Amino acid sequence: MSETIFSKIIRREIPADIVYEDENVLAFRDIHPQAPVHVLFIPKQPVPTLNDATPAHAELLGRLMLAAAGWAKSQGFADDGYRVVMNCNRDGGQTVFHIHLHLLAGRAMHWPPG
Ligand code: 5GP
Repeated sequence: MSETIFSKIIRREIPADIVYEDENVLAFRDIHPQAPVHVLFIPKQPVPTLNDATPAHAELLGRLMLAAAGWAKSQGFADDGYRVVMNCNRDGGQTVFHIHLHLLAGRAMHWPPG
């Protein structure tokens, strides 16, 4: 189904700065970081957008969140805080159609987001 640049990163066909991997999830640093820490947590199983998620993906979506929180704790900034974001389609600002959780940290985040 959805073949994107992230599928190539999963298959190690293009390089990425991978910081975390488990059976279901891969995480790597964003190529255009928007904060001192900017990591993308992606499911190895491609799902184009959050709109395409079904109840069958509920565990996978939970695993993405838990992987991000676990990695934040392992890096020592979890207590200071961080933000996780999933963009969806045009108005959400999604550009890569393989769902991913942005983890942003290392500075105070603004609200409302732009
Ligand atoms: P979106 O805009 O879809 O929410 O987020 C896609 C993110 O993927 C962007 O922040 C963009 O910088 C990042 N990105 C796009 N292509 C690559 C790539 O080849 N390698 C890495 N590491 N990040 C990428």
